[in-house]
Amino acid sequence: MTEEKQTVLLGLTLRELTEFVEDVGQPSYRGRQLYEALYRQRLGSAEQISTLPQEFRQSLRQRGLSLGVPTIEKKFVSSDGTVRYLIGFGDGQSVETVWMPEGDDGEAGDGSEAGSEIEKAAGRSWDRTTICVSSQVGCAVDCQFCLTALLGVKRNLTAGEIVGQVCAVLKDQNFSPPENRVNIVFMGMGEPFLNYDNFMRAVRLLVEGVGIPESRMTVSTAGIVPRIYDLGAEPVRPKLAISLNAPNDELRSRLMPINRKWNLEKLVAAARDFPLRNREKLTFEYVLLDEVNDSAQSARELGELIRGVRAKVNLIALNPGPGIAFQTPAENRVAQFQKILIAAGVPTFVRRPRGRDIYAACGQLKRTVELAAS
Ligand code: SF4
Repeated sequence: MTEEKQTVLLGLTLRELTEFVEDVGQPSYRGRQLYEALYRQRLGSAEQISTLPQEFRQSLRQRGLSLGVPTIEKKFVSSDGTVRYLIGFGDGQSVETVWMPEGDDGEAGDGSEAGSEIEKAAGRSWDRTTICVSSQVGCAVDCQFCLTALLGVKRNLTAGEIVGQVCAVLKDQNFSPPENRVNIVFMGMGEPFLNYDNFMRAVRLLVEGVGIPESRMTVSTAGIVPRIYDLGAEPVRPKLAISLNAPNDELRSRLMPINRKWNLEKLVAAARDFPLRNREKLTFEYVLLDEVNDSAQSARELGELIRGVRAKVNLIALNPGPGIAFQTPAENRVAQFQKILIAAGVPTFVRRPRGRDIYAACGQLKRTVELAAS
């Protein structure tokens, strides 16, 4: 690491922390102690690391180094148990991170169906949760149904800021993987594949440092095709979800301008080529917009488009928001869409919206939305 530039330790690997402590004349095992303090114990400041000698803790401070754990600036609690966190960083920027106890009842981050009967029978559903993590401040992708898009993109998050969201929330909730089961979905603010290197570094730190298995992580992309191929080549990687939202180019380009760069032919080809592991399935996400992409014809077209891909479809009825020009479809339209896909042989689930009342649901994350309730 470059000591002059680096002011925070969160985001460094075990090797980098070990190099750092050796550089400042400490025995190499102190690197492991720092690593454990950051990622396992998730301590907030160097003073709290009781395994380190007092003078080393002081010298960290004198060198202007901090652990770099982000701060929880606000917390909105939904009537359904979902918590929307506003998480702040050193430069004054902030993102949102969402805590969803007991999964989201439609898709668990590990690919099982959340709240399954087997789980409930085993009495295990109480200690599972899904954390929805942001990868950028704002987003540049401009999906027309998404509140985050209205922010534009301010900057990429560092790996430490991505991991830091998880550490801060776990600490606040007193949750501790691997004892408590945690799923991570990279579906918050931002397009993870436009911040690929930091996102992947964060994934490795979450696996090795925090102790969350990669099989319990899912990354969602709007369709950055070259990075789909890169992800497929990673030795450690989350599962892949593709935000599809339309069954043809005309409609998709209207809803997601990124489709003009990588169209459905390229996107579905990348999905077909994606090297799935045993029992792994790809996820296609499809936000249903009333009278726009939710007709029976669209459902049939979608079934054709993804025929033969080992995938499931998650349907999300639009979460409404100010400044969004679309409406939420009626339940019977959602049910009809699901039925047609299932009849076409595509496993299809309807995701229960979480935290709509606090703007924590999919596509609703927007830092500037201020709510009185908490
Ligand atoms: S849906 Fe995702 S990729 Fe699209 S604008 Fe919103 S945050 Fe960005």
